[in-house]
Amino acid sequence: MNFADSEIVNSILIEDGMTVAANPESADVILVNTCSIRENAETKVWNRLKELRSIKKSNSELTVGVLGCMAERIKDRIIEEEHLVDIVVGPDAYRDIPRLLAEVDDGRKAVNVLLSLEETYADIAPVRTTGNGVSSFVSIMRGCDNMCSFCVVPFTRGRERSRPMESILKEIQQLSDEGYKEVTLLGQNVNSYKDGENTFTRLMDAASLINPEIRFRFSSPHPKDFPDDLLHLIAERPNLCNYIHIPAQAGSDSMLERMRRPYTREQYLTLTEKMKSIIPGLSLSTDIIAGFCGETEEEHQGTMTLMAEVGYDLAYMFAYSERERTLAYRKFEDDVPEEVKKRRLSEIITQQMNIQKERNLEEIGQRHLVLVEGTSKKSEEQVSGRTDTNKIAVFDRRDFEKGDYVEVEVTDCTSATLIAKPIRKTTITEFYEVAVEA
Ligand code: SAH
Ligand code: SF4
Repeated sequence: MNFADSEIVNSILIEDGMTVAANPESADVILVNTCSIRENAETKVWNRLKELRSIKKSNSELTVGVLGCMAERIKDRIIEEEHLVDIVVGPDAYRDIPRLLAEVDDGRKAVNVLLSLEETYADIAPVRTTGNGVSSFVSIMRGCDNMCSFCVVPFTRGRERSRPMESILKEIQQLSDEGYKEVTLLGQNVNSYKDGENTFTRLMDAASLINPEIRFRFSSPHPKDFPDDLLHLIAERPNLCNYIHIPAQAGSDSMLERMRRPYTREQYLTLTEKMKSIIPGLSLSTDIIAGFCGETEEEHQGTMTLMAEVGYDLAYMFAYSERERTLAYRKFEDDVPEEVKKRRLSEIITQQMNIQKERNLEEIGQRHLVLVEGTSKKSEEQVSGRTDTNKIAVFDRRDFEKGDYVEVEVTDCTSATLIAKPIRKTTITEFYEVAVEA
């Protein structure tokens, strides 16, 4: 989400006549886009601000700004304690950055952290300077109304609002014209996307028809209201990826209730079973929190067994980090000792790595369609990309280029990567036609 937001900010600044600096030392303005989701995300930002202090010392003209969720949450502290920060801009105030920058010209500080009920930056065409030129994020909604008890997002990003469908489709058309091959639609709960009569399924339907050679993913849907018609659409459309990220957070009813996640373990398992039965070859990923308030050993085991039962291909696993203003902060106690949280998280991660290794071993001999994203981290001789099912695959470079779709056969694996041999360069349409005939 922050990558997508930074690209919106790029666009606003470039429109205002600014250009991207080659490095921090030569910049007149440095903006740090921030995240408040967990304590360590904020720690990273404080560290970055400290690094910037030395650049500011040698360049007194430099303006430093803090953007995004942290700006909203701790604006006073940022300005008063970290004298190096000149402007503070919340996630709904990016259009105001040029005015705020003008205001600090005479050494004053400028702040706008107002949240909005309407702002979706719908008319702003993001300027993409950070991506790989192949995959891109498109934000379809902002804010969140779900109020999960552990989560700060509703407080930092405000009320949920959907971006008009027409502006989303226009942005995707533009990405298609620029040669992008993969789009991930973003929102805190994409299922609740609504633009008049247009639901999330309708949006996916219309988006996927723009260019059959662009593959689509989305993040994140909520288990409480995942639409059946979307599952059928994914099963039918070759360019809707057979991959769903479906955050569970926990595996016991008592914990889900404390987290204010409105589904039971049984309902979640029924949903993932249905997903697997409608979409052949589906891969699933999830988000998990270890050590939330009052977590018992039994509840922890509930999370472990849920994860084993679903058999996720990928999981994002976190130790609970208490956030001010949330319901959990106000009502519950962050009472699971740090070492217990760590131990439980590490059990969760170890189990997940084993599951992933097993699942990846089952892939040996299978064919996949991989979109090449660039050179492999480990070797110049190899390229890396992702399968439709969102697994990283590496294989010999030959004459493949970034943005090529390559049919590969998996020959080996680790828990995180498929090692493959390339068969041929192809297209989505061609690859799946052959698969259907076979
Ligand atoms: N809207 C998405 C989640 C966005 S936040 C959803 O509901 O699925 C991404 C993930 O961060 C969450 O799924 C959760 O697992 C994790 N997270 C959120 N708040 C957290 C906290 N206080 N401590 C630890 N992890 C947290
Ligand atoms: Fe946070 Fe829950 Fe909203 Fe996700 S759905 S952003 S976890 S409040």
